[in-house]
Amino acid sequence: MKLIIASNNAHKIKEIKEILKGEFDEIVSLREAGISHETVEDGKTFLENAMKKAREIAEISGCAALSDDSGICVHALGGAPGVFSARYAGEHGDDEANNDLVLKNLEGSADRSAHYTCAVVVAYPDGSEVHAEGYMYGKIICERRGTHGFGYDPLFVPDGQVRTVAEMTDEEKNKISHRARALHALLDVLR
Ligand code: IMP
Repeated sequence: MKLIIASNNAHKIKEIKEILKGEFDEIVSLREAGISHETVEDGKTFLENAMKKAREIAEISGCAALSDDSGICVHALGGAPGVFSARYAGEHGDDEANNDLVLKNLEGSADRSAHYTCAVVVAYPDGSEVHAEGYMYGKIICERRGTHGFGYDPLFVPDGQVRTVAEMTDEEKNKISHRARALHALLDVLR
């Protein structure tokens, strides 16, 4: 069976292809499938958003479709930014402003614990679906460190580590990330 990844993010596509390659005859990105479609991410949870996107692409394409949705939840902020991670400070994808706002909102807080979540869904054209979630727990430090990764990585030190995710290589991150854990959990479900 052919799987369409509902994303054009090169890093995600590479990681997903590597982990799921044995499970599908062919795995292609949205662009490779010739599909251009924007899903309105208005779900209250990561799973709702991932489900909606996977379902829309499965319906449009008639193929199995995989979608993921992810973000960071800061415990002292009641789980924010959560599903609003990409646009916490207003503009979608403004990592600098998002990081500044998290730091500002955590000023004076003794609890700096947080976790990343990734929900991943495969929707099939017959209306069925499978899903899984993965998490990475850690804490938000007081200033940015490192230049790798993206999003909140310069501020996030995973439990049991001394470096931020932005100080790790892609390979190191992919061993412990919420996305890798969600994809491996999905693999268990698929099998
Ligand atoms: P998306 O699910 O890839 O759209 O991610 C939504 C937002 O969550 C991103 O724009 C980042 O702000 C944040 N995020 C998700 N995964 C990561 C990660 O692995 N590192 C840093 N930030 C992330």
